[in-house]
Amino acid sequence: MTAEADDKIPNETGGLLFGYWVEQFREVVVTSVVGPGPGAEHHRSRFVPDDKYQEEELARLYQQHGRLQTYLGDWHTHPVGPAYLSKLDRRTLSKIASFQSARIPCPVMVVMSRGEDDWILAAWRWPGRGHKWSPYPRFNVRWFCD
Ligand SMILES: [Zn+2]
Repeated sequence: MTAEADDKIPNETGGLLFGYWVEQFREVVVTSVVGPGPGAEHHRSRFVPDDKYQEEELARLYQQHGRLQTYLGDWHTHPVGPAYLSKLDRRTLSKIASFQSARIPCPVMVVMSRGEDDWILAAWRWPGRGHKWSPYPRFNVRWFCD
C-alpha cells in the first residue's frame, strides 16, 4: 500500500480490502489488499478505481478463500491533508453499507495520509448504529504481511 501510495504522489490512489472479522465488527484481519487497477484515474483529491479490475480481483479472492473471507471495504490515500474521512468518503462508506448491507454490514475504510517520515494509517468503519465514525485504535485493526 505504501509503495502504491508513493508511486502515485501527488495524486490519490487506493483499492479494496479483503479478509475476515475475528470479533464481529470490532476486530478485523486484512489478508489481501487490491490495488487501483490499470484503468484507474488518479487526481489530486479524487481517485476513480478500475471497476472491472477490482471485480475480477474480488472474484479471484472469493474463489481462493471460499466464503471464509470477504470484501471488507476500501482504502485510499490523502497525499495532502489528514487521515480523516472527507464528506465524500463518508458518503461512499454509507453507500457501501446501505447498498450491500447483506454482504457488508460494517464496511471499513482505511485512509492513509503523509506523516513526517512515513504514511499514517487510519481505519474507519460504519458501526451499524447511527452516523458515528470510529477511528483506529479504538477500532482494533491487525495487519498481516507475508
Ligand atoms: Zn478520502
